[in-house]
Amino acid sequence: MHADGPSPARGVNIILLGPPGAGKGTQAGFLMDDLGMVQLSTGDMLRAAVRAGTPLGREAKAVMDRGELVSDSIVSGLIDEALGGLSPETGVIFDGYPRTAAQAALLDEILARHGRTLDHVIELAVDEDALVDRITGRFTCATCGEGYHDRHKLPVQPGVCDRCGGTEFRRRPDDNEETVRTRLAEYRAKTAPILPIYAARGLVRRVDGMAEMAQVRAEIRRLLRPAGRRVEPGPAEARPPAA
Ligand code: ADP
Ligand code: ZN
Repeated sequence: MHADGPSPARGVNIILLGPPGAGKGTQAGFLMDDLGMVQLSTGDMLRAAVRAGTPLGREAKAVMDRGELVSDSIVSGLIDEALGGLSPETGVIFDGYPRTAAQAALLDEILARHGRTLDHVIELAVDEDALVDRITGRFTCATCGEGYHDRHKLPVQPGVCDRCGGTEFRRRPDDNEETVRTRLAEYRAKTAPILPIYAARGLVRRVDGMAEMAQVRAEIRRLLRPAGRRVEPGPAEARPPAA
């Protein structure tokens, strides 16, 4: 249960930045559980639009399947709209956004409009060679979103989710080797260059994304709890369905 009343985690805004497969979604899930923050993942929002077959989803699908980036205005519109539905008290984790310098500039405007300011940009630093292996084997439970991996973490009972007993699993169509290579190239060319912009503003906190998941989780919690400031869970909001 989350504590009632005012808490320093209120209205905190953080970006999780790192290449595909760095563990942004996993850590965002931990932050939701630990602190009651809300994850805004443009990748999840786009996949939901693809599944729903909306015009936006149909437009985005081909781009995503190639591993390229969807337009800055589309993803920024999604973020703007999602923030509009949250109380100012709710702490937010931006996962997979911003991904270009233009998106970073748009995010500043969007945050200002919603009366928010950026607190931390958490860089998940990873070894690129490990990423292709991590991504090309991963799949999730279609019911509860629990993550699995062909080579590193299969369900204990084959075909049955450890967490919820579900028997349906999903793989992302863009998690194949060729598309992963394009996604990594897009990251290097367009996303990595926004790190120095945030570093110049003193916002970047670097975390070793190759460490054990639990250790990365603890490290991020520590970053969110600066000396003399206790971060308590914010008001809980419903966790959006996993992609
Ligand atoms: P990952 O970080 O594992 O590559 P995401 O789920 O964040 O995956 O994104 C999947 C795809 O969705 C991207 O390859 C891209 O096509 C699209 N996408 C997601 N977020 C953005 C964004 N901020 N800007 C442009 N395209 C995006
Ligand atoms: Zn499950």
